[in-house]
Order: sequence, then C-alpha cells, then structure tokens
Amino acid sequence: MAIFVFAESHEGKYKKAGLEAVSYAKVTADLSGDTVTAIVFGDSPADELYKYGASKVLKIQNDVLNKFDANSYAKALAEVAQGDIIILPSTNEGATIAPVLAYKTGASLVTNVEKAPSSVSPFTVARKSFSGKGIETVSVTGKIVITILQNSFGIKESQVSGTEEVASISVTDSDVKVKVISTDLASSNKIDLKEADIVVSAGRGMKGPENWGIIEDLASVLGAATASSKPVADVGWRPHAEHVGQTGKAIAPKLYIAIGISGAIQHLAGVNGSKTIVVINNDPEAPFFKSADYGIIGDAFDVVPKLTEELKKFKG
Ligand SMILES: Cc1cc2nc3c(=O)[nH]c(=O)nc-3n(C[C@H](O)[C@H](O)[C@H](O)COP(=O)(O)OP(=O)(O)OC[C@H]3O[C@@H](n4cnc5c(N)ncnc54)[C@H](O)[C@@H]3O)c2cc1C
Repeated sequence: MAIFVFAESHEGKYKKAGLEAVSYAKVTADLSGDTVTAIVFGDSPADELYKYGASKVLKIQNDVLNKFDANSYAKALAEVAQGDIIILPSTNEGATIAPVLAYKTGASLVTNVEKAPSSVSPFTVARKSFSGKGIETVSVTGKIVITILQNSFGIKESQVSGTEEVASISVTDSDVKVKVISTDLASSNKIDLKEADIVVSAGRGMKGPENWGIIEDLASVLGAATASSKPVADVGWRPHAEHVGQTGKAIAPKLYIAIGISGAIQHLAGVNGSKTIVVINNDPEAPFFKSADYGIIGDAFDVVPKLTEELKKFKG
C-alpha cells in the first residue's frame, strides 16, 4: 500500500516544507514496508521528489486549481490519495486543506507532528501541543491525515527510482468555494517568513518604526526574512504578517536573531523550534537569554550596524 504525501510547490518550485513532508513519508513508508506516492499540483519536476524517496509522482493538472482553494484541493487529493496515510506540510495551504481532507476521506486528523512515528500499527506519534510548550503522544487506528510541523523533521535525501503520471480528477469550478478577488502585499519580506532559513526579528527595544533600517540591512546581508514581536505589529510599526509567536506565525528557521525582544513566553511559543537562537538585548536579565544559544548584551543601535559591517566584510 502506498503512503500519500502532498508535495507543495509554488510557481513550479517545491517548498522546503513540501520536501520535508516527502522525507517524512519515506521514513514512515520504510517503517511500514510501503512506498511513497507524492501528489503535485501543476508540473514541478518529478525527479526532484525521487531524491527524497517518492517512487511515484502523481501530477494534478487542472486549470480550476491554478489558484489555491481548500475545498477543491482537498477534493482532488481525496480522489487521488487512495491509502490509509496522507501526509501534508503544516504550511498555510497544508494546514487549511488537512481538516477538509480528513472530513472528506473519513480520516482522523493529527496536526503538528515533528518526529517519525514510533509505530505504524497502530500509528503512534508525538505532536507539539499547547503552543509548543508540550508534546502529546497519540495513537490512531484507521485512516489518518497528518500535518508535519515546518522545519521540525528536516529534509532527508533517500534516492529511489520513480515514475510519474498525470492523475485524472473530477474537480470543476463549482468545487471552488473561496475565490481570491485581490491580493495586497502586507509585508516587505521578499522571503517567505515560514520558509526562511534565517530570520532577523525585532521588538519594542527598537523604539520606533523609523529605526528598522538597521534590521533590514542585517536581514539583507544575511539573505534573511524579517519578523517582529506582537506589540510592534499591534502599534503598526511593522505589518502583522511579520508578527511571530503564540498569536502570530510559528517559525523554525535554522537561525533566529532576536533584537530588542524581551522573550515573553508568548513570543517564545512561536520561535522556540529555531535551531539556533541569537539574542541581542541591553538588559542582561532579559528572559530571552535563557533560551538563547548565543547572547550579546548591548545596545542594538550599536551592535546591529557593527554586526552588519562585519558580515559584509566576511562575505566580501
Ligand atoms: C494572550 C497573549 C498572546 C500574545 N502573543 C504574542 C505573540 O504571539 N508574539 C509576541 O511577540 N508577543 C505576544 N504577546 C505579548 C508578550 O507577552 C510580550 O508582551 C511581547 O512579546 C513583548 O514584546 P517585546 O519583547 O517587543 O517588548 P518588551 O517586552 O517591551 O521588550 C523590549 C526589550 O527590548 C530591550 N531593549 C530596549 N532597548 C534596547 C536597546 N537599545 N538595545 C537592545 N535591547 C533593548 C529591553 O531590554 C526589553 O527586553 C502575547 C500576550 C498575550 C497576553
């Protein structure tokens, strides 16, 4: 039996989270003695997915699905993914499709999974709960839809030989329940915050929006996305799309640099999955230092431009 996985892509390029979900599917398939079938919307290259363990790639090509809509995507996936385990990344798209897909397929839904299952029969796995403050182990019998927490499991190469097919589906325009009428860019981020390997984030310690130039300069030299604490977004210094934490985006980059952020528990809830945390704060007692891998005690207005200059020299 195949294990199905939604290999999410954007403009023909696989998202990191999509490749991570395929890697997760391969590890699960190895445990259960199954194979991995990856499902792709559009025409992204199949051979890239063979590299991560998908031995079959089903491509869904239908003009109705050119724009994302949870209901029509879930319907297409439900028609194609004829197996007991369907895996999705917990991206905006994956997390929106998953409950609809679980409903349509009569499956149980397990979200925010970050580790390989400890057993596949019954399916037993740990998932993050309580905004990342707790780990819950669940055991599920029957069909299951799983979402993989972004940047938690990692992308793991496992080359197999594979085949590709175009899947036939019956989705029509009447299945599209939400149509996007217009899109306004809410953030200056050129890099998707949730996909970014490096994030430079700043808080109330920056004193005002006019001071964000040094944050953007540091982000630019590192090729990083920018983020902020909640109060900064609440007062309009930065767009809400950049707000990370319990009530904002949950991110898990390889490197998170927190500047002038105190490290409240609600902020940590969204960033404590980061691989390495660097904190820059002028208060040696700032709680964030307890969660930091590296800490710099100093004035951001002094430290950040120096750091940017040194990085520029290093890169040069
Ligand atoms: C239900 C609920 C949900 C919440 N959700 C979120 C959330 O999702 N995300 C979030 O971020 N917050 C959230 N909060 C708010 C959270 O509790 C904190 O109030 C908030 O994170 C603090 O933001 P801050 O660190 O930017 O500001 P502050 O707490 O004011 O900290 C500013 C920091 O900057 C430092 N600083 C000052 N000047 C400088 C300088 N010149 N150089 C270097 N450092 C300097 C200070 O020492 C201080 O540590 C939530 C709160 C509640 C009650």
